[in-house]
Amino acid sequence: MLGQTSQKSSEFTGRHIGPNSDDIQQMLELLGISNLDALIDKTVPQAIRFKESLQLPEALSEYAALAKLKQIAVKNEVYRSFIGMGYSDCITPPVIQRNILENPGWYTAYTPYQPEIAQGRLEALLNFQTMIIDLTGLEIANASLLDEATAAAEAMSMSYGVCKNKANTYFVSQDCHPQTIDVLQTRAKPLGINIIVGDHQNFDFAQPLFGAILQYPASDGTIYDYRAFIEKAHAEGALVTVAADPLSLTLLTPPGEFGADIAVGSTQRFGIPLGFGGPHAAYFATKEEYKRQVPGRIVGVSKDSQGKVALRLALQTREQHIRRDKATSNICTAQVLLAVMAGMYAVYHGSAGIKAIAQRIHHLTLITSEWLKRLGYSISSEPFFDTLRVELGTKPLQEILEAAEARKINLRIFDETAVGISLDETTTVDDVKDICRLFAGTDELPFLLNVQELKWIIQKSGLKDEPFNRKTSYLTHPVFNSYHSETELLRYLHKLESKDLSLTTSMIPLGSCTMKLNATSEMIPVTWAEFGNIHPFAPKSQTQGYQILFQQLEEWLAEITGFAGISLQPNAGSQGEYTGLLVICEYHESRNEQHRNVCLIPTSAHGTNPASAVMCGMNVVPVACDLDGNVDLNDLKAKAEKHSNQLAALMVTYPSTHGVFEEQIQEICAVVHSHGGQVYMDGANMNAQVGLCRPGDFGADVCHLNLHKTFCIPHGGGGPGMGPIGVAQHLVPFLPGHVVVEMHENNPKSIGAIAAAPWGSASILVISWMYIAMMGADGLTDATKVAILNANYMAKKLEQYYPVLYKGKNALVAHECILDLRSLKKSANIDIDDVAKRLMDYGFHAPTVSWPVAGTIMVEPTESESKQELDRFCDAMIAIRQEIAEIESGKVDAQDNVLKNAPHTAENLITGEWNHPYSREQAAYPAPWTREHKFWVSVGRIDNAYGDRNFVCSCLPMEAYSQ
Ligand SMILES: *Cc1c(COP(=O)(O)O)cnc(C)c1O
Repeated sequence: MLGQTSQKSSEFTGRHIGPNSDDIQQMLELLGISNLDALIDKTVPQAIRFKESLQLPEALSEYAALAKLKQIAVKNEVYRSFIGMGYSDCITPPVIQRNILENPGWYTAYTPYQPEIAQGRLEALLNFQTMIIDLTGLEIANASLLDEATAAAEAMSMSYGVCKNKANTYFVSQDCHPQTIDVLQTRAKPLGINIIVGDHQNFDFAQPLFGAILQYPASDGTIYDYRAFIEKAHAEGALVTVAADPLSLTLLTPPGEFGADIAVGSTQRFGIPLGFGGPHAAYFATKEEYKRQVPGRIVGVSKDSQGKVALRLALQTREQHIRRDKATSNICTAQVLLAVMAGMYAVYHGSAGIKAIAQRIHHLTLITSEWLKRLGYSISSEPFFDTLRVELGTKPLQEILEAAEARKINLRIFDETAVGISLDETTTVDDVKDICRLFAGTDELPFLLNVQELKWIIQKSGLKDEPFNRKTSYLTHPVFNSYHSETELLRYLHKLESKDLSLTTSMIPLGSCTMKLNATSEMIPVTWAEFGNIHPFAPKSQTQGYQILFQQLEEWLAEITGFAGISLQPNAGSQGEYTGLLVICEYHESRNEQHRNVCLIPTSAHGTNPASAVMCGMNVVPVACDLDGNVDLNDLKAKAEKHSNQLAALMVTYPSTHGVFEEQIQEICAVVHSHGGQVYMDGANMNAQVGLCRPGDFGADVCHLNLHKTFCIPHGGGGPGMGPIGVAQHLVPFLPGHVVVEMHENNPKSIGAIAAAPWGSASILVISWMYIAMMGADGLTDATKVAILNANYMAKKLEQYYPVLYKGKNALVAHECILDLRSLKKSANIDIDDVAKRLMDYGFHAPTVSWPVAGTIMVEPTESESKQELDRFCDAMIAIRQEIAEIESGKVDAQDNVLKNAPHTAENLITGEWNHPYSREQAAYPAPWTREHKFWVSVGRIDNAYGDRNFVCSCLPMEAYSQ
């Protein structure tokens, strides 16, 4: 396909890579370079080039790869799982599955940094937040976190930060899910937080606490009245977090009504497949007084240039780009697509529908409990919602487990004497009968319950009375009560989708984000039952397919990065950073060098880097960059020398966030090593390296990979992602393990769990597996080469209009480039935002704005964009430069012009008087393609400051929209 590159590229490679061989030739001509390999030789430093070919299986066609993956998938066995522990099977409404989960209009969007072209998913996220606020009874909620366990850890950190009593002890109820306790312990250690795991019922508060966390209902199913505990904790000045199952809150008094300061949990059972652990959206709700300390993104209501209601991310100044080592958390990519789905599940069912689901589950649980009692078992988790702890008495556990196996049922095992049963939305009366048979040890149902008895059982529910029964209403907003016919819902989903600019419309050249093709073949297996319907704690015997998938993917990623070991647990790049740094800390500790706590980070680094380092208890020491944007080697040497005894690590992004392959990367690594430090490489820019060079070869000790950047997992509008790490041999023993699941990483030296599920968001790993399987070694290498070509082509085409800020040795860039627009402020009073918003009128999403350098944009085209699309984007940028030139020359008004007033909505153009000095046509149809197909923005430019001054993060009453 690529002719002059490799001969063995698969048929799929030609579909994944945008430009064909003629295009490539033309693009090279513009650069004055004869062939692609010559371009790569001039771009990537010779000293670090990988001279061999990656040892990966032969590339497969789309059809063959799907068939091969199916063979792996069927090795997973789908049992009915009644394990619970924070994961419940549920029904994904088909209209949501097809129109959101399987729809590129939703899943290929990016985090809504350009809110005017993201109103659809912002509205969907506002629905999610409103749902969480309603269900928890708290005042504000964020737009998702990665999973329940990390949300609990974020709650602990926030409590530590806002609590004024100076205590450093955190109480963790022993009734929390074990994986939550595991993650809390991992996260507490580097911060010097002392964790007490205990029984909230007899905790004596002898030690001052800054906070506490309780599970509601408890992990074994029991519902406790936490009021007395919370009062005592508050008297100490501690903050209390309640980890709550949101479905139970439709029947139970919500945490906000019994004094909780923070509520966290997972919304998985709101229509999201189990997926062997993820992805699912966790939620985080708290009181408004803590709005500036909340981790993660919050969607807030503001207004646009016309005074119309418009949504955008609120309180952005909390985030890492600005706050760096003082950020509230390192969370960047979260779980937007899953939060959108969970919110839509509430829209689909409405308040009455959700309550009916909860009630039905509760009633079936009551019946199960009654049946088991009549069989002579006792239930030690009363009152309960959906989970029973069954005491086996004299019955041997083994007998129960064999009977369960025979019926393909998974139970939770507490110990030799007790098992757990959690019912869910999919549970039928037949399932309940089956459970009864299982415990009876017979295929005959020992007895039946008559209608009278059933009524009596339901009447006895402990949830009907004080203090548990919920009295307040929820999901009363019209959005949850208007779309209950499928026709209505389909149109609502489509309306929101069409307000958003995703990859289905045009390229999204966000630098550092790698918005490449997310091929349909890669996506299809995600919703296969063999991957989707598996509980994360299902026994290994049922997950053989997943084990093969992990093993192969780990091998492939190790080969691509040149590392000895891979951990698939971190479920975002930020979590990979945290994990990798923690692994480094444990390594130092194992050598009695725990005093090493200085982390050098170049000033050009992504904000998550310093934020992650701080979470590991490290002191961040910034390293300067030189005039060419490279790490200032002299400054690095000086800082490494100065902190030699304390040096723990350097975090370095490669190629740098300035879009350049630094020649001296090996020397940088050597300097750090010579002072006893380890090198952490931020692998977000791996798309410029795959097949050409390997971090493990040129000196890095650890590196994370954003599978949602380089390896084709779609961004989902801000998640899901996956951030596995690769490590050198000496760090392998420290990789994350898991308390619940047996995995080869469970090493005595392991740092413990850093995510709720052992393999993170396991179900989306199929996407990266498919990508590598279909590309093969040559295809992947070709992709990297073309990514570099595309970036250089754009840089060359645009540099006469906008200077390219940094270049490498031969005046070439890596896979992205920074365009400097700072002079336009002076010459035409044009801000970077004016250009970003004007691009919307041309039908484009802006590149990354003002990062890593204020007043610039960073363009990353990726290999998937065709020459035609690159030209179209360049034409838009060039046309905008001409529009700016007219301001500079005085021909056009400096205030009232197409840039300052951008973006232009249809409403704005059509209604009322038109009294701008330019035409409507110039405003809306500035380029030929806009006449053929116009992407209309749904709101005008959004006033960010207004929304932060008037903070609202839940759905407004309908009247607000009709003004
Ligand atoms: C995207 C990115 C990150 C953060 O990764 P997430 O997956 O969003 O957590 C870190 N560093 C760089 C350079 C990035 O581009």
